[in-house]
Amino acid sequence: MNIVDIIEHKRDKKVLSREEINYFISNYVNNVIPDYQMSALLMAIYLNGMNTKEIADLTEEMRDSGHVWDLSDIPGIKVDKHSTGGVGDKVSLVLGPMVASQGAKLAKMSGRGLGHTGGTLDKLESIPGFNIYLNEKEFKEQVSKIGMAIIGQDAEIDPADKKLYALRDVTGTVSSIPLISSSIMSKKLASGADSILLDVKYGSGAFMKTVDKAVELAKTMVEIGKSLNKDVKAEVTDMDQPLGCAVGNNLEVKEVIDTLHNKGPKDLTELCLSSGSIMLLQAKICKDKKTARELLKKCLEDGSAFNKFREFVIAQKGDISYIDHPEKFPMAKNIIDVVSDSNGFVNRIDALAIGKSSMELGGGREKLDDVIDMSAGIVLNKKIGDSVKKGDILCKLYTNKSNYNEVSIVVKKAFLIEKQLKVIDENFTKKIIE
Ligand code: URA
Repeated sequence: MNIVDIIEHKRDKKVLSREEINYFISNYVNNVIPDYQMSALLMAIYLNGMNTKEIADLTEEMRDSGHVWDLSDIPGIKVDKHSTGGVGDKVSLVLGPMVASQGAKLAKMSGRGLGHTGGTLDKLESIPGFNIYLNEKEFKEQVSKIGMAIIGQDAEIDPADKKLYALRDVTGTVSSIPLISSSIMSKKLASGADSILLDVKYGSGAFMKTVDKAVELAKTMVEIGKSLNKDVKAEVTDMDQPLGCAVGNNLEVKEVIDTLHNKGPKDLTELCLSSGSIMLLQAKICKDKKTARELLKKCLEDGSAFNKFREFVIAQKGDISYIDHPEKFPMAKNIIDVVSDSNGFVNRIDALAIGKSSMELGGGREKLDDVIDMSAGIVLNKKIGDSVKKGDILCKLYTNKSNYNEVSIVVKKAFLIEKQLKVIDENFTKKIIE
């Protein structure tokens, strides 16, 4: 076997065999196949696609390129969730304590934010002292004891994805459904949970710009799960405006605390209830979604979800006084109101523009080694569907930088305010794929 034949096969729209896929993954990870040949193969896959069997084979080969965690010594069904990323997406920090408070075991590895999207690890690290570096033993002990742990991805997991993703990034081959789905699923499968819930976002702030593309990605990942006998379900949800109101690390943690006190934004609470209902079924804690939803509503009302969040923060060495007194979180020195120039209704908020602006204010990173200002970001006062009068505050910018005048021009343009209220689709979750 040789790599030129494999490239030619995919170039000529042939189906790659398991042996061919094994050959190019193992030899690429071992630095035998150079980047220029792998780039040609990635482009052939990008242009000609892969069938379900090829994608499942690729996923398995990538998963097995590194360390695969075995969580079988943690009692019960271990659940995990993954979002394809967006702006203001702090769901894991609310949903994790909600389902863990009902007896589910959440064993989750997360990532950092890049570009306009935020990352769960950065949000957690905005809590002083919080430790995202647990070893395998500590991770398993914590999940067994309190029902949840969220840590940074083990450096030994999925080396194939690390190399391939870096190459895709510079060869125009990121937005391919076979490559995205195998990349996400191989990492999730290597982290060892029994059940996985995927939140596939669509809209201006998401990878997938349309519902149809998001559904296609979600179906592909659920199919991979089925063919590998893993319980994988997916939801396709709206990222056409930021999720909740806060964008930026400690601002989002404060919103998480409000939501766990049952005082959070409607869209965030609703997504946590709908995702949590699916997860409680996956964890076999409930038999139907209605009962699951009632339990989850109750855990927000009676404080048990908030108490679970406290346990989680204490277990990972975060300073709990910040969770009990969120006013202690450092505040940016410049807080700037962005006000409306007209009367009407908010018909659109460009999530991508808000995410990028938050990054410009210091709340995100452009390159992986950039340092984040945990207090920087944007808090929306108005969401889609709200009425607005001239002079009303649309949102507030939080920054320690001095670029807020330029950023506020961009942010103001992100709000589309029109005389007539557009018909709003209240259906936040577009589709559930099981
Ligand atoms: N997230 C991933 O982990 N991989 C991709 O290819 C795209 C998004």
